[in-house]
Order: sequence, then C-alpha cells, then structure tokens
Amino acid sequence: MNPKIFLKKDRDRSVRQRHPWIFSGAIERIEGSPGIGETVDILSAEGEFLGRAAYSPQSSIRARMWAWDDAEIGNAFFESRIKRAIEARLGLMIAESDNALRLVHAESDGLPGVVVDRYGDVLVLQCLTAGAERWRDVIVTTLLKVTGLDTIFERSDVDVRELEGLPKRTGILHGADIADRIIIQENGIRFGVDVKTGQKTGFYLDQRRNRQRVRELVAGKSVLNCFCYTGGFSLYALVGGASKVVSVDSSGSALEIGRENLALNGFSMDQAGLMEGDVFLLLRRFRDEARKFDAIILDPPKFAPTAAQAEKAARGYKDINLLAFKLLNPGGLLFTFSCSGGISAELFQKIVAGAALDAKVDARIVETLAQGPDHPVALNFPEGAYLKGLVCQII
Ligand code: SAH
Repeated sequence: MNPKIFLKKDRDRSVRQRHPWIFSGAIERIEGSPGIGETVDILSAEGEFLGRAAYSPQSSIRARMWAWDDAEIGNAFFESRIKRAIEARLGLMIAESDNALRLVHAESDGLPGVVVDRYGDVLVLQCLTAGAERWRDVIVTTLLKVTGLDTIFERSDVDVRELEGLPKRTGILHGADIADRIIIQENGIRFGVDVKTGQKTGFYLDQRRNRQRVRELVAGKSVLNCFCYTGGFSLYALVGGASKVVSVDSSGSALEIGRENLALNGFSMDQAGLMEGDVFLLLRRFRDEARKFDAIILDPPKFAPTAAQAEKAARGYKDINLLAFKLLNPGGLLFTFSCSGGISAELFQKIVAGAALDAKVDARIVETLAQGPDHPVALNFPEGAYLKGLVCQII
C-alpha cells in the first residue's frame, strides 16, 4: 500500500486535466510517511483515487504524476514509458544520418524529471527530481535493455536538483569511460560534444531545426552569431553559403570546441570569426563602430528559469534585441530566441516588439520557431514549451 496524498477540496482540477504537477498548497493531508521520491497515491478530498505520483518533500512541486491510473510504478512501467518515448521518435523527420537526439523529454514523455539524450553510442541521463532519482537504477537497466547500447553517463549536475534536496552528480553509470569528445552528425554537419563537462548534456539538441532554417536563409549574407557556444549556428551558416560569419561566446572552452568543429567540417580556423567576449558589450561596440550584418542570431542562456525572474530577464532580452535591430542592414533577418521557462511566447514577442520600436526599425515576424520534435510538448503540460524563437525581418 502506497502512502496517500489527499488534495484540498476543489484543488483536484489540474490533476484531472492531467497536469503532472501537484503543488504543496493543493495538499490537504498525507496518510503515511512517504520518503523522498517514493510513490504515493493521489486522492481527491472526497477520497476518489486519481493516480500515482512521486513525492518530493522539499520542493514546492510536492508531487509529480507518474500515472493517472493504478499502474504499478516499477520495472514494467519504466520499460513501457521508455520504449514508447523512443519509438515515438522514429519518423519525426530528423535526418536519418543524425546520430544525436533527445530520447526522453521528461514530463512530455510521461516521465517527470527524466531526460535522456543520445550522442552516437553514448546515452546521457539527467535525473532532475526526487522521483527520477529514486528509480535511477531501474531507468539505467531499462535503457541498456531497450536501446542495446552499453554506455550511460550521468549529468545530474543541474541547479533544479537543489530544490529537491538532491546533490549534484556526474559520472559513468554503465560501460567504459567515455572519450572527451563524442563526434556526432546533425543534418550532415559534424560536431564534437563534450558530454562530461559541456553545457546541458553537451549539446543544444533542441535547436536542430532552427539551425537548419538559418542554413536555408543566409546564402550570401553576413552573419553575426551571438551566444554561439560550440559554433552550431555558425557551422550551419557557413555550410549554407554565408559570405561572412562572426561568432561570440563568453566561454573559452566552448569556443575551443568550436574551433575543432570548424576543422572537423573542412573550414579554416578564421572562417567563423570566433571571439571570446560578452555579447552585451560586443553589441554596443559594434553599434558604436556602425558595423552592419545581414543576419543576426541571438540565442542567449536562460535569463529567467521561472516567472519570478521574468522582469529582470525581460530587460536583458530587450537590450540585446534592441542593439541587434540597430546592427541589421535593410532586409536583414534577426533570429531571436528565449529558452526561459519564465517568459511566455506572448511576452517574448512583446519584448521584441518593444525593442524594434525603440531601435526605430520597421520589423515583422516572418517565421516563428520552437524546440525540435525530439523535445515534444505534451498538451497537458504547456510548461514544456520552453524554447521560443522569432525570425524578424526589418524592412
Ligand atoms: N546557440 C548555441 C547555444 C547557446 S547557449 C547552439 O546552438 O549550440 C548560450 C551560450 O551563451 C552559452 O554558450 C554561454 O557560454 C553563452 N553566454 C552566456 N552569457 C554570455 C554573455 N554575456 N556573453 C556571451 N556569451 C554568453
């Protein structure tokens, strides 16, 4: 018998609508004393059984739904969810030669807190929540069985674990130690990925399609790639025939891999114009120097992980977008992104509109972009739509 969580009266609506999060404020009482990550039964105030969840005693998201029925949460459950996630990705219009993608995308694959990325023959697991942590060994065994692969590396070194009372952890979970660079192929372009210490699980897989759009739209154009990390958008721009590429990031180690990536694809060291620096300062310098570009990419880090930081984040987005608009030639394209969970698509568009107004340019949205299909958004979990992108053209 699992411990039971009874919800407050009239606080069961979101669970019934299959939203996976139960906040502490919605809980009336707990019967039994569930441990961290333990499976609990969720009941309405009237005692109606609503499903099963993982208990997170330290987080304000106190429980996350595993199932809206009485499925037993154990080996067979994880095997069926993981299989389902992997099978769902077949035929999602990801190039067949690509050997890197997200296999499990947490809540949107019915596995809150569980992220699995594949880079060649290496799987990378992130356990973000107490529930994911509780079932880590089962998840590892299941991944080995379902994928037939042998190597799993853990990158559970994310800040959100602190909210769950979990320490950060990285290291090999199964198989031999991995190389410092895993070479992956994405839309025919090769990238070295540092799975051990790179950002996220090593690569921004969520931007795959948007990088491809840049490639399709920049032939003959001068391109400025801001927040370039290991040169993803820069490589695509070069392959797409950009006349000139300038790339900037504040991380020296990311730029080092960026240099390797140029060589890996037969480009010379200086072709992507890789520069170490702060985008906020560099954009001002370029403005003062009256530098102009035909296309600018702004893919900054998460300024607002949650809604609480939205206001400060909005100022950051406004600043860089305003400056970028000023650096564009007539007809120029701005590819602007926000991966902040705390900034909605609507708010992001407003911020970009305000930036264009203050930059005194006439701009219009010619395309809206989002995270790729291997990072799906479950309709019962709109929070999953974290990556927002706009392609704006100035006229
Ligand atoms: N566009 C990249 C991912 C960008 S992630 C891709 O497709 O792979 C955000 C990047 O911004 C990180 O590489 C981080 O090092 C960098 N960064 C963060 N703050 C910065 C700043 N103020 N100036 C320049 N780069 C910054």
